Amino acid sequence: MNILMATSEAVPFAKTGGMADVCGTLPVELARLGHHTTLILPAYRQVRAAGLPIEPTGVHFDVAIGSKTVSGSFLKSRLPEGDVPVYLVENDHYYNRGGLYQEDGEDYRDNCERYVFFCRAVLEAVRLLDLQVDVLHANDWQTGLVPAYLKLEYAAVPEYERIGSLLTIHNMAYQGVFWHWDMLLTGLDWKYFNWQQMEFFGNLNLLKTGLAFADRLNTVSPRYAEEIQTAPLGCGLEGVLQNRRGALSGIVNGVDYREWDPSIDKHLAEKFTPESVATGKAACKAALQRELGLPEEPRVPLVAFVGRLADQKGLDLLAATVNDWVKTHDVQWAILGTGDPQYEEQFAMLAQRFPNRVAARLEFSNALAHQFEAGADMFVMPSRYEPCGLNQLYSLKYGTVPIVRATGGLVDTITPVDDKTLADGTATGFAFGDYSAVALAKALQRACDAYVQPEVWSRIMATGMQQDWSWATSARKYVELYEATAARVRRGLVAGNA
Ligand code: ADP
Repeated sequence: MNILMATSEAVPFAKTGGMADVCGTLPVELARLGHHTTLILPAYRQVRAAGLPIEPTGVHFDVAIGSKTVSGSFLKSRLPEGDVPVYLVENDHYYNRGGLYQEDGEDYRDNCERYVFFCRAVLEAVRLLDLQVDVLHANDWQTGLVPAYLKLEYAAVPEYERIGSLLTIHNMAYQGVFWHWDMLLTGLDWKYFNWQQMEFFGNLNLLKTGLAFADRLNTVSPRYAEEIQTAPLGCGLEGVLQNRRGALSGIVNGVDYREWDPSIDKHLAEKFTPESVATGKAACKAALQRELGLPEEPRVPLVAFVGRLADQKGLDLLAATVNDWVKTHDVQWAILGTGDPQYEEQFAMLAQRFPNRVAARLEFSNALAHQFEAGADMFVMPSRYEPCGLNQLYSLKYGTVPIVRATGGLVDTITPVDDKTLADGTATGFAFGDYSAVALAKALQRACDAYVQPEVWSRIMATGMQQDWSWATSARKYVELYEATAARVRRGLVAGNA
């Protein structure tokens, strides 16, 4: 298969979130399976600073943005691994800026225009760079117009008529909503500005546009694919997703085990394998306790959280539980994250008041993230919603038992401890359903009860460490999805009849 993956970010070129990991890693795995992927993304300032070789192609193009004609050109690079070509859409006015989407917490006011330009450039790239494409793979709202342009403007052009489109939803909460006059920038007829296609409560919605026009839709876990078909997780687009449920599926993201494997992890005080986890984790735990200024107590459970300090992550539940437990339970807490000042303040305060029980590092540190995963006994993710989640997958590999809210990808990747799963050796973590501090505390208590039974605990750890959540499995599922997308186009089906 030949895939053109259009994305607004991909590692190692530009990253603000998990989508960049998917788009930078999946093409390499697809290449291993014999499929050819080409990546295309904007030539942001970050991309140029990434230090990878970039050369001009000499190919320039003009596209219509509203009543203007805007010019750009294509630069060429490659992913560091595999044989994956990367085209960068150059237009300094749009992309040579301090951030990808915003600066100082303020979205760029011309974001709609910047991504209209990018989507038009993607379609032009197929023709001008003579790319052979079976499936155009769009990602999130920034590329929501790609399936629409393909269907409405290019479908009858010979080079395009056999191309299918897939849109991956990485997070329903970000939709690219702009005021209705930005419809003029898209160049599409106002007749598409209706409640089933591009309009959303009087505004233009670019994610909705993609959901309406793509041949196939997927998201980053099967459970999240279900959840977004109803409120509140559909974020207002549940109706559109229900209409298209026949075209919607879920594929869990993979882990990059070259980066996240305790047996080769250069950030750890001591590397360990499933065989040496007892001594290795003890050394990493002691090192982490020293690093964080917590008492070096080997038998006191150490519970970690790493992530964005955002409402999505369930930090109100966590803060309430830590606040209760510091007075009643012999447990240590380690928090690593940045984000909402309200949570930063709460955890900083807890750490200050209870320095022997709580440590809060309010920074972004990859090395510390690895050390938290390796040194902790338990990893807590009380997420309100979680499209896929990566930290629970890292935790499994590091023998750190996840305690998760049963939502999204956390349901698809963690097998909760109960009598049956303990007996048949499939249990990997603890889960709770209700979004409440009481439910979280109960799950934590069950984990602490298991922790003091070394046989039970080491069995749960061992089961987790044996799991394989590598990209190889997920990439095979993407190949099946690409094949289904292309077959759908060959059969001449139209998106509206999903
Ligand atoms: P999301 O994409 O919703 O932020 P994921 O669990 O899918 O959540 O991925 C988050 C990634 O970002 C993980 O690799 C995690 O280790 C990393 N991360 C988040 N916050 C920090 C931080 N403060 N320091 C280091 N790594 C972090």
